[in-house]
Amino acid sequence: MTNSPTIEELSHEDRIFPPPEEFAAQANAKADEYDKAAADRLGYWAEQAKRITWDTPFDTVLDWSDKPTAQWFVGGKLNAAYNCVDRHVENGLGDRVAYYFEGESGDTRTITYADLLREVSKAANALTELGVKTGDRVAIYMPMIPETVFAMLACARLGAPHTVIFGGFSSSAIADRVKDCGVEFVITADGGYRKGKPSGLKSVVDEAMEDCPEVRNVLVVRRTGQDIDWNDDRDLWWHDVVDRQSETHTPEAFDSEHPLYIMYSSGTTGKPKGILHTTGGYLVGTSFTHWAVFDIKPETDVYWTAADIGWVTGHSYIVYGPLANGATSVLYEGTPDTPHRGRWWEIVEKYKVSILYCAPTAIRQFMKWGRDIPAKFDLNSLRLLGSVGEPINPEAWMWYREHIGGNRCPVVDTWWQTENGSILISPLPGVTATKPGSAMRPLPGIVADVFDDEGNSVEPGNGGYLVVKEPWPSMLRTLWGDEERFQKTYWSQYPEVYFAGDGAKIDRDGDFWVLGRVDDVLNVSGHRMSTAEIESALVAHPKVAEAAVVGAQDEMTGQAIEAFVILRESAADGGDDVVAELRNHVRSAIGPIATPRSIMLVPDLPKTRSGKIMRRLLKDVAEKREVGDVTTLADSSVMDLIQKGVSES
Ligand code: ATP
Ligand code: MG
Repeated sequence: MTNSPTIEELSHEDRIFPPPEEFAAQANAKADEYDKAAADRLGYWAEQAKRITWDTPFDTVLDWSDKPTAQWFVGGKLNAAYNCVDRHVENGLGDRVAYYFEGESGDTRTITYADLLREVSKAANALTELGVKTGDRVAIYMPMIPETVFAMLACARLGAPHTVIFGGFSSSAIADRVKDCGVEFVITADGGYRKGKPSGLKSVVDEAMEDCPEVRNVLVVRRTGQDIDWNDDRDLWWHDVVDRQSETHTPEAFDSEHPLYIMYSSGTTGKPKGILHTTGGYLVGTSFTHWAVFDIKPETDVYWTAADIGWVTGHSYIVYGPLANGATSVLYEGTPDTPHRGRWWEIVEKYKVSILYCAPTAIRQFMKWGRDIPAKFDLNSLRLLGSVGEPINPEAWMWYREHIGGNRCPVVDTWWQTENGSILISPLPGVTATKPGSAMRPLPGIVADVFDDEGNSVEPGNGGYLVVKEPWPSMLRTLWGDEERFQKTYWSQYPEVYFAGDGAKIDRDGDFWVLGRVDDVLNVSGHRMSTAEIESALVAHPKVAEAAVVGAQDEMTGQAIEAFVILRESAADGGDDVVAELRNHVRSAIGPIATPRSIMLVPDLPKTRSGKIMRRLLKDVAEKREVGDVTTLADSSVMDLIQKGVSES
């Protein structure tokens, strides 16, 4: 992906937003964090490890002798649930709110740290009674309700790694994961609320269990009260088993490298990978980044990661990071447009949310609906905004900053992956002068770079492959049951360097721009181009809310650019010439080489449940192939609509 000067020179960003003085003055992380980490990287991580309460102190910060499997904080022992819950109660913070839960239908619960301790202890006692032991894997298939957190922390308390499966996945996705990591115990709910209706979960588990005879028990939370089938030999109600348990439970300390959880990646580029995270390093990484990037002030902030717990973002920034830091979070069950399109902003106003973290896909959805909707709510409590999951188009970044952040809140575009466990590249909100669309710099303690094919750092302004050159505490340790795929996927491109699979460039100021998946890079007449840049040019047009670009085989040019575009509602009919207008727009914004061969106006795009565009499916459509694996798609009817549109055009 080296040297494509045409494109690199043209996508240039002049807008720069230094942190407001007031924000900078009160920020947790100041500029000296970079210096401290550069002077003594491992010493810096040892310092960060003090955020965690260790039952037995570690003796070695990093053991990299068995590379690429790192061991962090070797010799240390700790309990993750104790760090997230008990110690805050012991420190007199039992009355602090851990979660403001808001159900989609408007039911609410306030859970303090003292409540959390009771609930997690009861759940841990219940799991023990049901025979769950240290090392056993437990699958969790739940809606976004407090019991999901109780279940995760109960597992962590027992040292039984959890694997949380998105509540929208199919029975075959559950069965695959259950079998892949040898699960014998499943926790679910009768159903959850989604788009105004109860949607069944237990019924999906029942179907999956036909294929999973090893599972001995399914523990069921009653959420919706809908009718469900019941298997007397296998199924148990949460309220029957958990409610009668003792409210105290003594946590056991586990080795720093004890497995904490397995999370399957989104499957944007292919079959999901079972990513293993362990305890000590993961907690250090999540609590440090939650402090540094989100500037958390646990006494006063109300923090909201508007993502699903079934995605790594939910694990690290709804559960482990915020709880380790004793923060107060919002937990919202539902979708952004139920019962109305102002639902998120109503929640921000109601709980006085001060920090909001969400995905570009959500921001583009709000752009599509129009700025009048957030304008109806009081968003003045917000002081910091974050983005994660995909490259954020500069125009979406600007919209977020202006219409949600009132031009007052720093925006942190955070780059990381399931494999990374916690944020690796991001502005520090009190330090970094940000550029819309750039994730800016590797965090203190992280050594990232952009390599060419030969493994040399690229010259400023050029594109290449995003890599991490030194191990970091919250890195994955392996792919569950597939050490070979682990080594091949991440460690075979360059010796001893982590290969992220994303394209990136470093601009003349040394700031990082993530350009999308290496698999998605386009090659048009020998010019390599990134999907992100062409998509961002399209989104910069006032009629466009969202765009996806793929390269389809073309006899003349090698690959031709095919674009799929969602218009803003204010431009819904677009006018007859909208397609020609958009082609010309890309031509003048980037150059003739980037002009799409065709642009298709679509009502929606295929996305994973975490909101990522699945370009590989669009590529299948553009190249007129049968579409590939759709098991991690949020809504599979989208592909039918798009294919219908293609065959009609
Ligand atoms: P799979 O690896 O199974 O295909 P996935 O990569 O979509 O799934 P995740 O770990 O959820 O699964 O996503 C990580 C990816 O998301 C990154 O590799 C990157 O492509 C993208 N990403 C996340 N945050 C950002 C960001 N701030 N800017 C650009 N891209 C981002
Ligand atoms: Mg990935």
